[in-house]
Amino acid sequence: RTVYLNGEWLPEADAKVSVFDRGFLFADAIYEVTAVIDGKLIAYPGHAARLRRSLDALGIPMPVGDDELLALHKEIARRNTIQEGLIYLQISRGAQDRDFVFPQDLAPTLVMFTQAKRVLDNPKWKTGLSLQTVPEGRWAQRQIKTVQLLYSSLMKTEAARKGYDDVLFVEDGYITEASSANFHIITTDGTLVTRDLSNALLHGITRGSILDLAQRAGLKAEERSFTVDETRSAAEAFITSASSFVMPVVSLDGHKIGDGTVGPTSRRLLEIYIEDQLQQGDA
Ligand code: PLP
Repeated sequence: RTVYLNGEWLPEADAKVSVFDRGFLFADAIYEVTAVIDGKLIAYPGHAARLRRSLDALGIPMPVGDDELLALHKEIARRNTIQEGLIYLQISRGAQDRDFVFPQDLAPTLVMFTQAKRVLDNPKWKTGLSLQTVPEGRWAQRQIKTVQLLYSSLMKTEAARKGYDDVLFVEDGYITEASSANFHIITTDGTLVTRDLSNALLHGITRGSILDLAQRAGLKAEERSFTVDETRSAAEAFITSASSFVMPVVSLDGHKIGDGTVGPTSRRLLEIYIEDQLQQGDA
């Protein structure tokens, strides 16, 4: 693979970041993941906008302009002949001698790489996922897309070893989200319910698109907190993310959701999401 590092295109083995980088020592970094289908960037404007919000929240300067950022996404897909897959971008505050206090003038580290992946025919779309609830244990600023993913990684690994596909974080009895996706239910009267935006969860780009599409398709939608009990008695459930789009969830802690198979509304939302995205331009 050819990766991008601070203005240079390098073979992956030659791309080196300082051991003093604050991304490495303090998880002082943010990231974005953008899908590519048929060489086209999916929901790029939303990802670019959230990247800026994450940087602003941490006071990290944006190292490249808007046009260059888009050009870099297109160029890295081209150089790696990615027709279908993911583009990962990370910006850390930069390197300094180890110190909790950081100066304002550090030069950020910008890294990009691609992952060739078949995002368009995910076999799990047909079977749906089994999730396990776990206590919410991440930091309290989850609206910032930081690389501080240790708790999520530990929980998902433990759940995977028990045969679950993912975890669902629960805080004060209410579901926040999955390890790397937003979580939604369809109630038995056909309403889409998704948690309202706050610092408790990442403001998913796919979540926003789906909410918009669902309303345009005539579905009733509510943005509010909901419990594990409400999820257990829902007709359908699904998660959304840049890499899985709309992924059905068919069981929670071993209990079936609905009839335990992929529901018609989840399936329909997946179809219209892909259709809609492929019609949109990159910028
Ligand atoms: N929630 C978390 C914690 C995530 O890490 C992600 C994506 O990685 C999402 C939600 C979904 O966000 P998006 O749809 O922008 O990919």
